[in-house]
Amino acid sequence: MTETRLRETICDFARSLYDRGLAHGSTGNISARTDDGGLLVTPTGSSFGRLDPARLSRFDQNGTLIGGDRPTKEMPLHAAFYDTRGTRSGAVVHLHSHHAVALSMLPETDHDDALPPYTPYSIMQLGRVKVLPYFQPGDPAMGEAVRELDGQRSAVILANHGPVVTAATLESAVYAMEELEETARLAITLSNRSVNKLSADQVRNLIKAFDID
Ligand SMILES: [Zn+2]
Repeated sequence: MTETRLRETICDFARSLYDRGLAHGSTGNISARTDDGGLLVTPTGSSFGRLDPARLSRFDQNGTLIGGDRPTKEMPLHAAFYDTRGTRSGAVVHLHSHHAVALSMLPETDHDDALPPYTPYSIMQLGRVKVLPYFQPGDPAMGEAVRELDGQRSAVILANHGPVVTAATLESAVYAMEELEETARLAITLSNRSVNKLSADQVRNLIKAFDID
C-alpha cells in the first residue's frame, strides 16, 4: 500500500471507530508499518473524529521521528508489540472502549483468558486475551508488561484503561479490535446468567484448524 493510501486508511478507520462510539474525546491511538519499514502513528491529543492524514507522526525504520506532529504518549505500547512479534505485527490499535474496560474491572474476569468462548470468531481473531495490571498513564512499565509476553499474545486489555490489539494488517487489527469489544459486550450482557458456551473440545478444534497462537 502506498504511504498516501495508508495515511488515508488510518484516518478512515479512526473516523469510523469514533462515529460508532468506540473512541471518544482524544482517546485511542493507531500505528501501522510503512512499506519502507517505518511507522505512521496518530498524534498525541488528537481526536479519532478529525485526524489529518498529513499530520500523522512519521518514524523511519530506525525509530526516529522524521515528520508530522508528536506521536501518542502511549507509543511504548505499540513499540513493544512490533519489537516482540516481528512481521506478525503490521499495525496496532488501542482504544478505551466501554465494554472492554468494563470487563477488565469485573471480579469474575479470568485475567489470562478474558473473553468467554461464546463464538468462534473471537477465538479465531484474538486467541487468548490477557488482562494486564493497571498502570498510571505514562508509566513505561506498561510497555514492559507487553514485552514480557514475548510476542505470545496479539491482544491485551490494560485494566481500568483499555484494549490493545495487533495484527499483520491495519484492516485485520481493526476488525479484531471490533470483535474484542463485541465479545466483551456479550460478556457484560450475559454476566451472572447461565450460558451455553463453546465446549473445551470445540475451542481446541478451532485452535488446531486455524493455527491460532
Ligand atoms: Zn490509552
